[in-house]
Amino acid sequence: EERTRDAEQKTHELEKVQVELRQSAEQLRQSSNYKSEFLANMSHELRTPLNSILILSEMLAENHENHLSDDELEYAKVIHDSGEDLLNLINDILDLSKVEAGKMDLWFREMDVYEIPQHIQNLFMPIANQKGLELSVDVANDLAEIFHTDVKRFHQVLNNLLSNALKFTEEGSVTVKVDRARITPAMRQLSDTWITVSVTDTGIGIPKNKQNIVFESFQQADGATVRKYGGTGLGLSICREVTKLLGGWITLSSTEGQGSTFTVYLPSLPDGNAAQTNIAVQE
Ligand code: ADP
Repeated sequence: EERTRDAEQKTHELEKVQVELRQSAEQLRQSSNYKSEFLANMSHELRTPLNSILILSEMLAENHENHLSDDELEYAKVIHDSGEDLLNLINDILDLSKVEAGKMDLWFREMDVYEIPQHIQNLFMPIANQKGLELSVDVANDLAEIFHTDVKRFHQVLNNLLSNALKFTEEGSVTVKVDRARITPAMRQLSDTWITVSVTDTGIGIPKNKQNIVFESFQQADGATVRKYGGTGLGLSICREVTKLLGGWITLSSTEGQGSTFTVYLPSLPDGNAAQTNIAVQE
């Protein structure tokens, strides 16, 4: 009889622990929701005044009546550039909190991979020219299959990788390659065909022991790069999280002092169900 009572007591205690665990999980979920909501609201509240700063400093910098001295003109430009940096940071934080909260809406549609070179030329040729770097984009010419993705988010990944490649390269080249991926049986279960987009640079490279941490939020390979190159350490976390949402993943191979290659693997046709549950009207 005593043993039965003992067993009952134990069961009772176990149940109590279970209830407590469930309560803590619920509390955690709630505070994580509060955090995401807070970040979303804050970002919105910050963007409104920031937009005024951006628009008005831009107008000042245009200096229509030639009222401004050279110094004042320079100040107006610095205000505008700093405002833009701040806006990018806010947008990155908001994007990451959306991913964390599972609230990043995706809008999959057909995309023409042969548009990628034009997109890159338009956005990045000026920076490459300014730094005297060669920038080339090569799309394999037999990519006939239809590629479905969220084009805005795909561009976000590509833009982050390219700005890093150009930022961390002082001489040489940045090369983008779009090709069909060699697929494993596991990959075939998810999609019949896959594409790879790789961004290769001849820049400073990333030491082996830092190659994992650069994908974590707010992490940079070297504390000193912050001062030398600026940046927040959010770009690659966004790349990794967004690539996951697009059904793929991202890899890095790099040799310190020689350069880096980031490769994004994406299914040509992301899993129907996953894609559909995420489909939403584009913002
Ligand atoms: P940010 O560029 O804003 O610092 P990222 O998350 O994009 O943040 O990158 C994190 C870190 O990874 C960078 O600070 C840098 O140390 C390293 N890194 C990223 N891309 C490259 C690259 N192409 N070459 C060398 N280092 C890189």
